[in-house]
Amino acid sequence: TSPLLSVQDLKVSFRTSDGVVQAVRGVSFDVERGKTLAIVGESGSGKSVSTQTVVGLTRGAKVSGRALFEGRDLLTMSKEDLRQVRGAKIGMIFQDSQSSLHPYYRVGWQISEMIRAHDRSISKSAARERSIELLRRVGIPKPDRRVDDYPHQFSGGMRQRAMIAMAMALDPVLLVADEPTTALDVTVQAQVLEVMADLQAEFGTALIMITHDLGVVADVADEVAVMYAGRIMERTTRRELFYHHHHPYTEGLLGSLPAESGERRRLRPIAGSPPSLISPPSGCPFHPRCPYAFDQCRSETPPLREVFGDRAHHSACWLPTDEAGRGEARAALTS
Ligand code: SF4
Ligand code: MG
Repeated sequence: TSPLLSVQDLKVSFRTSDGVVQAVRGVSFDVERGKTLAIVGESGSGKSVSTQTVVGLTRGAKVSGRALFEGRDLLTMSKEDLRQVRGAKIGMIFQDSQSSLHPYYRVGWQISEMIRAHDRSISKSAARERSIELLRRVGIPKPDRRVDDYPHQFSGGMRQRAMIAMAMALDPVLLVADEPTTALDVTVQAQVLEVMADLQAEFGTALIMITHDLGVVADVADEVAVMYAGRIMERTTRRELFYHHHHPYTEGLLGSLPAESGERRRLRPIAGSPPSLISPPSGCPFHPRCPYAFDQCRSETPPLREVFGDRAHHSACWLPTDEAGRGEARAALTS
């Protein structure tokens, strides 16, 4: 069966006064029905721009590639059709619920309007009942009363829950969540992720989770795409990502770059800073920061290729893809 969403060779660039920013440089990924794809990377890696482009929320960008959603290309759809699809089939949750919940309107009213905007045959009172039910479902206490609150009367965690309620209001098949828990403290974050997981299980919703937080990846992901400098560096299952990652950038993100020989492995940030996307580095975009970089890395761009023995694991790195060969190469390159 075909995936729910198949993004193929997506490229996105913006003209700025400093030059053309190549924000996304040929990204491909699939999202299966009911599954969670986490897209992880530092800020500026292109993870938000990729998904915002797919759902038609980037303005003034030059876009190429395909984004097949239930067989239709979202990138060539009319604005009106895309708006329909986005409302009825794709729910969205952002980091900052304050920018998505309107401060002047009651929370319940906003959810009701969302429901009625897509189906005018639903009465106001039925939409209100449904809003209360949704608020209850995402764990808002006393939803029959809180439904009439304004967003500022909610805590940050409750606002994120209300956002989820709103995103789920039309029973979407795909939810796109961009750093939905970044502004929350760890306990509340875990609760919000749990609410999302419960709803996903109940409704069979697929999820794209955009995050820079590997803790979130560990909690929710089925599959993971690691982005850097507008490209996918590694794409694999959650388990492989944590236990058998291939790419040196993933290694860096996980804080597991081996320290000097004989020393204990310890956490440390990746040295150096993310590259300019106006004039990205030649060859592998990670080469200026990679502890293993060799000549080929500086001149030739590694394609995403299958990691030896695992058809669901791809890495864009010139190091050997078999574990023994890679170990030897890394030892040689860092000695
Ligand atoms: Fe490092 Fe080279 Fe692999 Fe890039 S291709 S991650 S520079 S080893
Ligand atoms: Mg972002």
